[in-house]
Amino acid sequence: MPADIEKLINKSQEVCASGGTKLTQKRKNVLMVLLASTTPLSAYEIFDRYKAQFQESLPVMSIYRILDFLIQEKLVHKLETAGQYMSCAHIACDHQHETPQFLICDRCGSVKEVGIKKRIIEELERSIQTTGFMLAHKQLELRGVCARCQTSG
Ligand SMILES: [Zn+2]
Ligand SMILES: [Zn+2]
Ligand SMILES: [Zn+2]
Repeated sequence: MPADIEKLINKSQEVCASGGTKLTQKRKNVLMVLLASTTPLSAYEIFDRYKAQFQESLPVMSIYRILDFLIQEKLVHKLETAGQYMSCAHIACDHQHETPQFLICDRCGSVKEVGIKKRIIEELERSIQTTGFMLAHKQLELRGVCARCQTSG
């Protein structure tokens, strides 16, 4: 296991323990698959990589259950528009997790997680409320071209 992934796994174990839950071996393996990926993955892609990496077939239903757990622990995020999953960029951070905003690159598929100030989210919610629209998901998913792809022309 690469040192940086090991560090994030250890931190994730602490996060779960402090919340009274447990990062079991299978949960840990799913998180490791996501930590090793540079782009978000669908549950089926996680299934394939899990099998290749751990020589064990984990049913897709179990993967969904594990993902739900990891999302609850804020170790993983789901991109609602794409139905893909990615590890949180702030696992190793001690600051409180802000409402995430995802910047999705249309060229390389990489996703950057950026926290948004609570005040801005509240303002956004207020302005949405005035239209009578009921918001189901608060996270923002914005598409564009990442800094690296812009420079590589
Ligand atoms: Zn996060
Ligand atoms: Zn952070
Ligand atoms: Zn890119």
